[in-house]
Amino acid sequence: MVAAARAAQPGWVALPLGVRLQMLRRFHELVYLRRAEIADLLTREVDKPAAEALSTEVAFVLDQVRFLIKAVPRLIRSPWFGSASLGLSRKRLRITHEPYGVVGIISPWNYPFMLACSRILPALATGNAVVFKPSELTPSIGELTHQLLLDAGVPGDVIGLVQGDGHVGATLAAAPVDKVFFTGSVASGRSVAMACATRLVPCGLELGGSDAAIVLADADLALAASGLAWGRFTNAGQSCVAPKRLFVEDAVYDAFLSALVGVVQKLRTGSGTDDATDAGAVIRPEFRAVLESQRDDAIARGARVVATAPASNANVFPPTVLVDVPSDSRALTEETFGPLMAVIRVRDADEAITRANASDFGLSASIWSRDVLRAGRLAERLECGTVAINDVLLTAGTPELPHGGVKHSGIGRAQGMEGLAECVRTKGIIADRLSSWRQGWWFGYSRAHRERVDAFLTLAHSTNVVARIAAIPNVLRMLFRPERPL
Ligand code: NAD
Repeated sequence: MVAAARAAQPGWVALPLGVRLQMLRRFHELVYLRRAEIADLLTREVDKPAAEALSTEVAFVLDQVRFLIKAVPRLIRSPWFGSASLGLSRKRLRITHEPYGVVGIISPWNYPFMLACSRILPALATGNAVVFKPSELTPSIGELTHQLLLDAGVPGDVIGLVQGDGHVGATLAAAPVDKVFFTGSVASGRSVAMACATRLVPCGLELGGSDAAIVLADADLALAASGLAWGRFTNAGQSCVAPKRLFVEDAVYDAFLSALVGVVQKLRTGSGTDDATDAGAVIRPEFRAVLESQRDDAIARGARVVATAPASNANVFPPTVLVDVPSDSRALTEETFGPLMAVIRVRDADEAITRANASDFGLSASIWSRDVLRAGRLAERLECGTVAINDVLLTAGTPELPHGGVKHSGIGRAQGMEGLAECVRTKGIIADRLSSWRQGWWFGYSRAHRERVDAFLTLAHSTNVVARIAAIPNVLRMLFRPERPL
């Protein structure tokens, strides 16, 4: 499949950009028209309530395509421009953006439509061919995504679909692709990075998170409780950017906790097929067992459960709020990939920032405060890729914002101009406008030449205006150099 993609890619990139933009427009139309089918499949395969599938995955993909239709021409455009350097004043410069060639894209199951599209669409739009491996837990969404791309006009060999588990992912990462975009767990991402390092090809890694949320004393506590409950428990808590560690200022800790408990106790668990369900089941029973062991480890170390939503069936891990969680508990040191939330009391904003940063992860974060300017300043001190103020999760769904992490949460960025730029290599081109005129600094050295070069540096860089004017005759002699015809 990689070989077929390689053979097809030159034809794809040679098409006028307008053809690829037309593919994006058609894809946008198809996703909009078939949104109910996409949402139903997400419900069937991930147990995601249809409203959630529409408001997160489908909405993001539609917005992202709109963004790309404007952003790709802006990135690809490569006009000639001049240099600020005096020595290069005869030159014209240009930076072109060229596709890598064949890109391997390995996706997870938790937001299988949105996360696949957020990598595939920019890669295709910039002229790459793609070999796409969806998660083995969401093969039908993978298949539908692939079919929508074909229906939108992407040639079959330009977008390959390969189904299978981690072994197939590892095979793709080791195949002769030119770049790999991987989204998934830290452990799998590390092995992808090692496979890419062996062949010296780049990779983009979007990995796990243990995001902090900071609730400041001046926050609207009812809003924060409602928003953070949604952020943590939406998609049954299986979001990389869910707020997993909540740091709440002492002055409002009790009031916030009581508001949060009130929200959590009213959540309705059940099957995503029921429109009235807030949180469905985690995707596999073995993942529920991991959550149970993380919760029990925290309790064994002294944590307390202060709220759980009613569990409607045995498959559901009920949304659960933990307090008094010691820092060395697995619920804080590991990623909790399900509806388990830890609420931690802190003295003030400084302690919240210090504790938020005391993690191997650094994906995103949120700050809740009525003083948005102060929250913005605090955001700069957080070690992570994105920060939402008075909202959650959105940073991974805002097409203009680069999404990605620091530390173990990943390398590189998806989305935004930065994510788009990761789909292309730059090439710098410098051309001389005076095509039969030697450069002043080429061979034919002498003491006089050395003085002229020095005069050139004075003209270009001295702050002394008189010295700069005095340097001009020598500079002209260097530029014309009649006595040294080498
Ligand atoms: P996962 O690592 O188990 O699987 C992700 C994908 O990688 C799947 O397609 C899988 O088949 C494949 N894979 C597994 N082992 C591989 C290997 N050795 N080489 C190549 N491919 C391999 O992750 P998951 O359980 O599907 O997803 C959940 C994880 O993904 C969580 O940690 C979550 O935080 C993270 N995630 C991160 C982001 C982000 O944007 N940063 C988004 C969604 C999910």
